[in-house]
Amino acid sequence: MLTAKMVKDCAVKGGADICGIASIERFKDGPPETHPLALFPDAKSVIVYASRILKGSYKGIQEGTDWSTYWIYGYGSGLYSSLGCATDAISNLLEDHGYEAVASPGGHTLLDEAPPARAPLGKGRQPPCIMLHMRVAAALAGLGEPGWSKVFLTPEFGPRQRFDILLTDAELEPDPLLKEPICDKCQACVRKCPGHALGGTREAVEVEGRTFEWGAVDCGKCKVTHWGLNPKASPFVQKDLPGMQMDIKKVTYKWYEAFRLGFALSDRIEYLKLIANGTAEHGQGGRPGSVCGAVGCVQACNAHLEAKKKLKGGVKG
Ligand code: SF4
Ligand code: SF4
Repeated sequence: MLTAKMVKDCAVKGGADICGIASIERFKDGPPETHPLALFPDAKSVIVYASRILKGSYKGIQEGTDWSTYWIYGYGSGLYSSLGCATDAISNLLEDHGYEAVASPGGHTLLDEAPPARAPLGKGRQPPCIMLHMRVAAALAGLGEPGWSKVFLTPEFGPRQRFDILLTDAELEPDPLLKEPICDKCQACVRKCPGHALGGTREAVEVEGRTFEWGAVDCGKCKVTHWGLNPKASPFVQKDLPGMQMDIKKVTYKWYEAFRLGFALSDRIEYLKLIANGTAEHGQGGRPGSVCGAVGCVQACNAHLEAKKKLKGGVKG
């Protein structure tokens, strides 16, 4: 008989670092456009698993010597191939036991900026514009909590991991929700974010008596900074486009606008073009890179949680 332990062991053997399981009931108050049942109406369990972002991938940006390492190793390359291997391993295990496995990459910032959901296809059907809420799913699977930065924090790696989700019709024992908060609202993420993107209005969800809360993120300010178009976070704009002025506090881009601006300008700014070309070779489609290096939301938070000795570190074994 298939058990939750078999699934979680399989995830870790397959390449993930951590894995948790949520029952579908925990999503009962979620909006239909992010609800797992909108994607897989027979789902009974939601399996969420993550691979760590190596601390060393930030080193080049910290030292001011290499801006491509984080984009290549903190986003693509080994990290997503580990997650992909875990997805295959768990899916195969589920199918071998007669269950269905529906993978979803979930949503990150795009959920906040996606076009409005279109009309349902028929009576009782959900609208077709569906994006699972990765951070909420990870919280409901007991893996941790969104920090005040809205970046997901786990007791193992703090803010340093990326997730995938599998929906299944197998009924698996859910993990308990994380009880002790990790985030102490120190505000280091807010202070260090060069995009002035963090710490907005409080947003929250409550599940089984546990409240998960975070400050709203200005996704346009973040994206334009993340792409390296905010001179405060990037030496390359000043070098190639010295006349370009950007007062990030006044920027009102929507996420998608900032996203497309990154593609338009990365071809114009030499170093950003170099990163984009470099990532093409690593299977990331020649996209502009993360020049900000998540200096506030990940790096400052990680330093804070390490100093407070709140992280358990690697758990693979
Ligand atoms: S730095 Fe981390 S622990 Fe501090 S408020 Fe931000 S998310 Fe919370
Ligand atoms: S990626 Fe950079 S700009 Fe975006 S929230 Fe993190 S620190 Fe701020």
